[in-house]
Amino acid sequence: MSKSVKNWWRSLRGKVNCQEPLALHTTFKIGGPAQFFVVPDDIKDLRSLVIAAHTQKIPLRILGAGSNILVCDKGVKGIIVHLAGRYFKKISYRSCGIEAYAGVVLPLFLQRSRQRGFYGAEFLAGIPGTVGGAVMMNAGAWGRNIGDLVEKVTVMDYNGEIRTLSRSKIRFRYRGSDLSKYIVLSALFALKKGKSSQEEVALEEYFARRQATQDTSFPSAGCIFKNPQGQSAGRLIELCGFKGKNIHGAMVSRRHANFIVNQRNATAHDVMSLMRLIQARVKKRYGTALRPEIKIWR
Ligand SMILES: Cc1cc2nc3c(=O)[nH]c(=O)nc-3n(C[C@H](O)[C@H](O)[C@H](O)COP(=O)(O)OP(=O)(O)OC[C@H]3O[C@@H](n4cnc5c(N)ncnc54)[C@H](O)[C@@H]3O)c2cc1C
Repeated sequence: MSKSVKNWWRSLRGKVNCQEPLALHTTFKIGGPAQFFVVPDDIKDLRSLVIAAHTQKIPLRILGAGSNILVCDKGVKGIIVHLAGRYFKKISYRSCGIEAYAGVVLPLFLQRSRQRGFYGAEFLAGIPGTVGGAVMMNAGAWGRNIGDLVEKVTVMDYNGEIRTLSRSKIRFRYRGSDLSKYIVLSALFALKKGKSSQEEVALEEYFARRQATQDTSFPSAGCIFKNPQGQSAGRLIELCGFKGKNIHGAMVSRRHANFIVNQRNATAHDVMSLMRLIQARVKKRYGTALRPEIKIWR
C-alpha cells in the first residue's frame, strides 16, 4: 500500500475494513472483496473521506443495501462507502411528509410512515433497498416510482460540497436519475396524511402480488434487465425458453424470467455468462437489445 493511500483514514472516526468480502453485503451473495470498506460516522466523517479520495484519486463508490449490484469475483479497488451508521438511519416527520436519511431501509420507511398516519408509498412494499439507493435508481413498481414522491434531496458531490436540490432540479427517469453524480444524503418525501383501511389493503395487495410473481427463495438482485420501451424483458426472456436455464448455479428463475437467482454458489462470471446468452438470443430472435438494470461493479 502506498504511503498516500495509507494516510487517508487517519482522521476517520468510522470503521475501515480491508479486503472486506462484498458477497456479505449484497442480496445476490456474490462478489469479491472491497479494497477498503468504510462505514463513516456522520456527514463530517463522510466529507473528509470524500475529499481525501478525491485529492488522492482513489475510486470511491456508495453501497446501500446492495440489492441492485453484481460485484465481480476479483473484487473492487478503492473505497466502498457503506452508509450504515446510526447517523445515516435517521427519520424525521414534517406536516407534509417524511425526511429520511440515505441508510434507512425501505421496509422501515414504510413501517414508520404507517405508524405516523402517512400514506402514498405503499407501492414500494417489498423492495429491499435503502432510501439512498432507491432515490438514485428511481426504484418503483406497479407503474409508480419513488421519484414521484420526492420533494427535495440533500446530496454531497465528489468534492465534498453539500447542497439541497428541489424536485424541479432533479431528472428522474425509468430506473435512474441524474443523481448518480452525487452521494444522496437524505430525501424529503411528500406523503398524504390520514391513513385509511384502503391504504392498508393496498399494502397487503402489493405484498401478495410480489409474493405471487417474484422469486425470493434464492438470493438475487431483483430484475436483471430494464424493460425495453413498451415491452416486458421477463416476457421476452421467457419466450426464448430461458426459465430454469442454469450455468454453474446461476439460474433464470422459474417464476420470473427477469430474475437470475444464485441457486448454488454462483460466481459473478456465471451470472454474466447467463446475461450475455440471454441478451444474444433475445437480440437474435426479437431484435431487441436488453440493457442491464443492475449495476455491475468491476
Ligand atoms: C428481491 C428483490 C426485489 C426487487 N424489486 C424491485 C422493484 O420492484 N423495483 C425496483 O425498482 N427495484 C427492485 N429491486 C432492486 C433494488 O432493491 C432497488 O434498485 C433498490 O432501490 C436499490 O437500493 P440499494 O440501497 O440496495 O442500492 P445498492 O444496490 O446498494 O446500489 C445501487 C446503486 O445505487 C447507488 N447508491 C446506493 N446508495 C446511494 C446513495 N446514498 N447515493 C448515491 N448513490 C447510491 C450505488 O452506488 C449503486 O450504483 C429488487 C431487488 C431484489 C433483491
